[in-house]
Amino acid sequence: MKSYRKELFFNVPTRRAFINITPQVNDCLKESGIQEGFVLVNAMHITASVFINDDESGLHQDYDEWLERLAPHEPVSQYRHNVGEDNADAHMKRQVMGREVVVAITEGRLDFGTWEQIFYGEFDGRRKKRVLVKIIGE
Ligand code: ZN
Repeated sequence: MKSYRKELFFNVPTRRAFINITPQVNDCLKESGIQEGFVLVNAMHITASVFINDDESGLHQDYDEWLERLAPHEPVSQYRHNVGEDNADAHMKRQVMGREVVVAITEGRLDFGTWEQIFYGEFDGRRKKRVLVKIIGE
């Protein structure tokens, strides 16, 4: 069995953003040389997500507005977590959007369902953050 590990880095200039990271994960898969197996992609921070869905800008705006209704950033004083920080909403948004995805690898390709793409969801940006890509297989 082969194993491959790589970290991807992000420094989003805004507080929140969704980034399609499928090309980077594909590059990792090619670099790994693995033909059959699994890839795990997870955010290495508790205020960011990795998730799979459609690459459609209207949907991403809908997510952002929906998450902001669920856990509004302001007023920051509404959260007990916000003692000396202001990112309680980001922890909650990450919880809803998830920590990681696992995708099957078949014949050297990401074995996606229809329209599936992998995204990095940032909820407390403007600093350097990491995503782990771990691939195992043969
Ligand atoms: Zn925090």
